Amino acid sequence: MKIVLFGKGGQVGWELQRSLALLGTVVALDFDSTDFCGDFSNLQGLADTLRRLRPDVIVNAAAHTAVDKAESEPELVRTLNALAPEVLAREAQLAGALLVHYSTDYVFDGSGQQPWLETDVPAPLSVYGQTKLEGETLIQASGCQHLIFRTSWVYAARGGNFARTMLRLAQERERLTVIDDQFGAPTGAELLADVSAHAIRQLLQRPQDAGLYHLVAGGETTWHGYAKHVLAQAMRTPLASKIIAKEMAPVPTSAFPTPARRPHNSRLDTTRLQSVFGLTLPPWEQGVDRMLAEII
Ligand code: NDP
Repeated sequence: MKIVLFGKGGQVGWELQRSLALLGTVVALDFDSTDFCGDFSNLQGLADTLRRLRPDVIVNAAAHTAVDKAESEPELVRTLNALAPEVLAREAQLAGALLVHYSTDYVFDGSGQQPWLETDVPAPLSVYGQTKLEGETLIQASGCQHLIFRTSWVYAARGGNFARTMLRLAQERERLTVIDDQFGAPTGAELLADVSAHAIRQLLQRPQDAGLYHLVAGGETTWHGYAKHVLAQAMRTPLASKIIAKEMAPVPTSAFPTPARRPHNSRLDTTRLQSVFGLTLPPWEQGVDRMLAEII
């Protein structure tokens, strides 16, 4: 099987390089790749890449993910999050390839307290959410065989992440304030990559399982609960001697004004994914603890 992976250097892209390698030959590209164009602002270049490589599977881990910055550059964001995925979908449809794509809890407005189902009506609050939703819609309209995984609060051991920021602040300040009115599940890039590889294999046997799925780790928390967990774990390590934070105060989202509005309810219901693919999604703490063991 030949797989083209876009966005190889991102959190999810990096882990996909590992998980997809088991399935076949992977050509992994980034925006500055030289042999083939992987730049999502170059739509013709992307089409040329796919026509030359003729993959069986296209995996798209590239995106404009800077949610606040997105508010001030909506055209670029739309190109990267909607128009480029549309090109991948069109080429997949023409070649009979499978397209795997990632989307977000930010397609929802965050109302209510129930986990969102795939069938719930999206109503994004931000440019990022709007363009990610448009990307989904364009892929679905293309008629290509696809898997779209909506996920949330993605972290990886590599690069910056929320846990790393909390650990740094806890060494600098005695009092931290963390948002406690946004609910969701921190989800590891490793988990996303492993589930993606599993699902691709299943689709070879059962093409009828293509479609849109919610994919997040089990359980739920708030950013405040997440931060508390991170610090509690850190206190069991030698890093404890450097931590001066004594208090972690819960605050509402309004305490940290940002250009982009964020949903309060980011819970995603994963029943459909677990049942169709026969998977059990582990509790979010499991992946976070593994990540902490790597970064501390
Ligand atoms: P990252 O920001 O870690 O990775 C995105 C990748 O896209 C980076 O490698 C980035 O390169 C690349 N990229 C940026 N601009 C371009 C361009 N013009 N052409 C090609 N590639 C480009 O994101 P994640 O791995 O976290 O996200 C993967 C998917 O999951 C995305 O679809 C995202 O929308 C979705 N998602 C992410 C969430 C999160 O919390 N991060 C939550 C929900 C969904 P560079 O780093 O060099 O800019």
